[in-house]
Amino acid sequence: MSSEFMISNCSCGKKHICSVEHVVIQEGALEEIPRLLHLAEIQKPFLVMDQHTKLAAGDQVVRLLEAASIDYRQYTFPTGDIEPNEHSLGRVMMAFDPHCDFIIAIGSGVINDIAKMLARVSRSRYMIVATAPSMDGFASPSSSMEQEGVKVSLESATAWAIVGDLTILRNAPTRLLLAGFGDMLAKYVSICEWRIAHIVTGEYYCGTVAALTRDALRTCIKNAPKLLLRDTTATKSVMEGLVLSGIAMSYAGVSRPASGMEHYISHLIDMRSLAFGTPADLHGTQVGVGTLVSLKLYEKIRKLQPDRAKALKAAAAFDFSVWAETLRTFVGPGTELMVALEKRDRKYDPQAHAKRLETIISNWDRILAIIDEELPSYEEIHQLMSSLGMPTTVDEVGLEAALLPLAIRCTKDIRDKYMASRLLWDLGELD
Ligand SMILES: [Zn+2]
Ligand SMILES: [Zn+2]
Repeated sequence: MSSEFMISNCSCGKKHICSVEHVVIQEGALEEIPRLLHLAEIQKPFLVMDQHTKLAAGDQVVRLLEAASIDYRQYTFPTGDIEPNEHSLGRVMMAFDPHCDFIIAIGSGVINDIAKMLARVSRSRYMIVATAPSMDGFASPSSSMEQEGVKVSLESATAWAIVGDLTILRNAPTRLLLAGFGDMLAKYVSICEWRIAHIVTGEYYCGTVAALTRDALRTCIKNAPKLLLRDTTATKSVMEGLVLSGIAMSYAGVSRPASGMEHYISHLIDMRSLAFGTPADLHGTQVGVGTLVSLKLYEKIRKLQPDRAKALKAAAAFDFSVWAETLRTFVGPGTELMVALEKRDRKYDPQAHAKRLETIISNWDRILAIIDEELPSYEEIHQLMSSLGMPTTVDEVGLEAALLPLAIRCTKDIRDKYMASRLLWDLGELD
């Protein structure tokens, strides 16, 4: 990948910028770290890692810094399982040396989220040295955290550099490799929903950014059969796809290119896990299952014919305060944010609904055409995931199958994002 992330004359009229300056994904990429640090003109980097990532790459990074006579400080989490919460961030901050002017995170997922928060509060630039291509947050400007026991996405810092050494990445634990692939599968749904939302709610859409993500997904799918063989090209396509997804989100200024209905299924599993202690899995693994759930929903949508009278009747019978009680029992304390959001966005307002419904009815053929263009069949992706040994049902990632219909209904309230569950609600078909 290049080190210039900008599209200046896009047909959508927007100048697309991403503040990531260097992406190095290659064999032996770690060797580039001293050069990058000289380029950044920094005095002293602060390294954050855990016991696993120390073994995977941390020790090697330390040796490279010492060989290049670069002074550094480091904090290594004493245990492997770290939660992205106040306690973990506090531990790193208490160990932070204020003479350090640069953060190097060695890991992926939680280590990346915490180190980005540290980069923000210490006003330092930041480099992620990935140890697994497991999620699409490498280039994103936010951290997925737990605050006061509630799952939140907090503004943090965008990486100045992303380093992915393919020798390390392809030897990552299989479940992490597959989680990254699961997070890439989401892009089928996210692009499809972005286009549908553009029609129904008129929200901003950029075909160039969508195409970038779509191409990266195609490359991942093409190379998928070789993923379990720890093939370099297959690993590279997943890592590049994940980084590119983050860049695409920066370009668009919204999460649309990389996240849709499937991510909300995953959010719900996380929210319930936090509130009620129910099981949960890796982000990308949950998102992969969420993708299958979404594909199934779109196969139902494909067969529908909008019925105006039915849709208006269902909307008139809907009472948000009654629904909020169901949310409270199913989602827990995270519900209050959702209630506040509805007060602001008023997506259930009868007039707003009637307007969306008319747009849906008059554009129904276009919506069906988008679904046909963007989505593979449930069967095709189910087969691919099964052949790789990925979980394919919600039970396997922490949600009882019997609760899935309720979970789908709850997804529409997490944020103001138009997706399959909201389209079904607008049509009076969600229940
Ligand atoms: Zn554009
Ligand atoms: Zn994701």
